[in-house]
Amino acid sequence: TPGALLGPAEIRDLAGRLGVRPTKTLGQNFVHDGGTVRKIVRAAGVRPGERVVEIGPGLGSLTLGLLEAGASVVAVEIDPVLAGQIVETVRAHLPGADLEVVRADALDVTELPGKPPTALVANLPYNVAVPVLLTFLERFDSLERVLVMVQAEVADRIAAVPGSKVYGVPSVKAAWYAGARRSLNIGRTVFWPVPNVDSALVHLERREPPVTTATRQATFAVIDAAFAQRRKTLRAALSGTFGSGPAAEAALRAAGVDPGARGETLGVEAFARIAEQLPQGWV
Ligand code: SAM
Repeated sequence: TPGALLGPAEIRDLAGRLGVRPTKTLGQNFVHDGGTVRKIVRAAGVRPGERVVEIGPGLGSLTLGLLEAGASVVAVEIDPVLAGQIVETVRAHLPGADLEVVRADALDVTELPGKPPTALVANLPYNVAVPVLLTFLERFDSLERVLVMVQAEVADRIAAVPGSKVYGVPSVKAAWYAGARRSLNIGRTVFWPVPNVDSALVHLERREPPVTTATRQATFAVIDAAFAQRRKTLRAALSGTFGSGPAAEAALRAAGVDPGARGETLGVEAFARIAEQLPQGWV
């Protein structure tokens, strides 16, 4: 049914009728190209009947694509006007489709109604893309995979490997939960309004976290400290965390890490080994 998805005229018409003026703060760029929506849904490998969580359904472009593929969707939208409209839009396009809408800031959502979702599929609001991604992987164990559209540079960063120029906090933290792969580039013209950045898809597959006695919080604290001053050696960057330079040096040696190295060369397992050296009950 080619008519199931939203095209340019309908996106504008809907926005006009609702008085929606897309805001940058909420990252409101709506996809008006059905081909792009179907590419995302295909890349996500959504199965009929699968429970999918979508963040920021907006006017419903991707939501309709997910529902068209037979998914059962729970969508979290912060904008009350959009959250209120989407059920109507879906009723008109795909009557009987299985959609639940949660009107909330995704970062505040600690539980979701219905069956636990196995996939997160979204065209993420760009300002909060990384925190939303990490928060959902942390809070919802049921999520097996994630397919999100983000700013191209952010996609590169999430999927970066140790030693690469763009490797940083989002890369290591995402690696705690999942293996990430950058996939398709998406041009600007599929959006209304046209954004001033390029976009790309990132695919994440959940895997076991590193085998460690350190908590996720302790490991993330070490990661934050190591990257807070990118140019510093780990010995210097972690001296505050461990109380002194010599203490940091001893901890790094005990973890099998060169104190003169920089954080950007280490994988998540090494950060977990360093965190194991923190005093018990640290975080
Ligand atoms: N999925 C739609 C599409 O592809 O056309 C819209 C995507 S648009 C890039 C991002 C959407 O996220 C907007 O609808 C915006 O209102 C919503 N949003 C922004 N910040 C949010 C937050 N913290 N929690 C939930 N939704 C948010």
